Amino acid sequence: MERPRVLETAETMRAMRLHTPGEPLVPETVSVPHPGTGEVLVRVLACGVCRTDLHVVDGELTKPKLPVIPGHEIVGRVEALGENVAGFEIGDLVGVPWLGWTCGDCEHCRAGRENLCPKAEFTGYTRDGGYAEYTAADARYCFAVSGYTAEAAAPLLCAGLIGYRSWRMAGGDEPHRLGVYGFGAAAHILAQVAVARGQQVYAFTRPGDTAAQDFARRLGAVWVGGADETPPERLDAAILFAPVGDLVPTALSHVRPGGRVVSGGIHMSDIPSFPYRLLWEERSLHSVANLTRRDGEEFLALAPTIPVQTETRPYPLEQANQALDDLRQGRFTGAAVLIP
Ligand SMILES: [Zn+2]
Ligand SMILES: [Zn+2]
Repeated sequence: MERPRVLETAETMRAMRLHTPGEPLVPETVSVPHPGTGEVLVRVLACGVCRTDLHVVDGELTKPKLPVIPGHEIVGRVEALGENVAGFEIGDLVGVPWLGWTCGDCEHCRAGRENLCPKAEFTGYTRDGGYAEYTAADARYCFAVSGYTAEAAAPLLCAGLIGYRSWRMAGGDEPHRLGVYGFGAAAHILAQVAVARGQQVYAFTRPGDTAAQDFARRLGAVWVGGADETPPERLDAAILFAPVGDLVPTALSHVRPGGRVVSGGIHMSDIPSFPYRLLWEERSLHSVANLTRRDGEEFLALAPTIPVQTETRPYPLEQANQALDDLRQGRFTGAAVLIP
């Protein structure tokens, strides 16, 4: 007997949609998406709340699909298969990341830099995402998820992957003293990778944020302080997760000659002008854009071996606006996750 391609799926679903950037998400009942050719229909079990979602909702990332369902740290079960889906079966636990589709044909795609594809589509930005009960995703960009519950795995899908790409860009386990500016979802995952590799983590938080500082200490940081403080040693490299351009010259001033500063975010306030001597002596400044599927495969294989443990704060789907505001205000440590 042929396997069923579709389970009994509801026709409508609850979703939180952005209609106008700068305004709150609206709870709505909308149609369950139909999985197109090459797509899986995923029943969302958990969807992480990423800072990028804030940039979309606040209008700092321009030209989203509107209305759009945000959310790109999706973990759920495959509930239906479109035509020509390979690699996944109904019932599989999958992760749907930010990179939703690429052309496969441009110079970047051909060179293994699909994260830079100019035609790329992004989950929860130019495609509907996971602040909903269901989402449809191109199966070729989904990852198999194992070793974690859906809620625990959700932050790995972006905070984890982008943190990992940033860490690799900063030299992987080469830099001994690694500075991390902004100790939120990405940093709390990355710190565990770095500590497991024997690196020393120097964690910089918002000045006076003792909760984040305690959190960083608990995860093994050898030094914690405010972003306005000077670390006791020169850093070999630094990663910026806080979207604060003022921190770029600060971080450059704290890395040794030849050291690298990596910005992991998709958006940052303007970088103030700074004297050339901060860059001089072969220091470098680097940004990280999006992710490749290779980043995801590598990191999702690595995470359970450490094992990376995520600290999550669950919110019901309908409280997405509250979760976004709590993230904006830094009201929790770890990662917010919506549970539909
Ligand atoms: Zn391309
Ligand atoms: Zn993200």
